[in-house]
Amino acid sequence: MKNAVFTVALAGALAGCGGGEQSPASAAPEPGPPAPPAKAESVPQPVDRANINPQTGPAAKAVQPIQHEPIMKPTKVAAEKIVKTDAEWRDTLTPEEYHILRQKGTERAFTGKYDHHFKDGTYICKACGTALFLSETKYNSGCGWPAFFKSIDGTVDETRDTSLGMVRIEITCKKCNGHLGHIFDDGPNPTGLRYCVNSASMDFVPAEKKPSAAK
Ligand SMILES: [Zn+2]
Repeated sequence: MKNAVFTVALAGALAGCGGGEQSPASAAPEPGPPAPPAKAESVPQPVDRANINPQTGPAAKAVQPIQHEPIMKPTKVAAEKIVKTDAEWRDTLTPEEYHILRQKGTERAFTGKYDHHFKDGTYICKACGTALFLSETKYNSGCGWPAFFKSIDGTVDETRDTSLGMVRIEITCKKCNGHLGHIFDDGPNPTGLRYCVNSASMDFVPAEKKPSAAK
């Protein structure tokens, strides 16, 4: 009984802040140890928004109503995807970046370089350079990861994520499918959203210099 209560409370706490990102104590993703082998070798599949649409056939039965549903807003922009092999990504990213961006890892809370970074400029995808977030949409959520209440239109994909025993919405770079973090509905006005993003998934371009790779 006590365990059940504790588990529920823990799940609630995880979902509330950091969005159930791996807890710093139990699953600190050090650069060294590889992630679960099954995932390590899998090439991230392009996620088609249609696959998570409750209206589509096969996946429909697995879909449960969740409170995050309204977040799944449609995005446009049929940008050309950047597709690289696993080896190519390993060559262009650091081990930590590779783990987070390509293996959906999570950096430890309060360790990311952009958690308390509030300069004017643009946050771009570390993997492909696409401009993802503007500094004016960044705020201090206190949960240990960089947080934004809005992404640049048409640059971020949202996908249902049921890992770790909870339902969350994963956010990925639309251009390269790189894992960024998760999105929650406890953000500030005007959107009420919190894009919880790993620092390692991003690079920062100061306002003086406009991002060149971004479109
Ligand atoms: Zn990208």
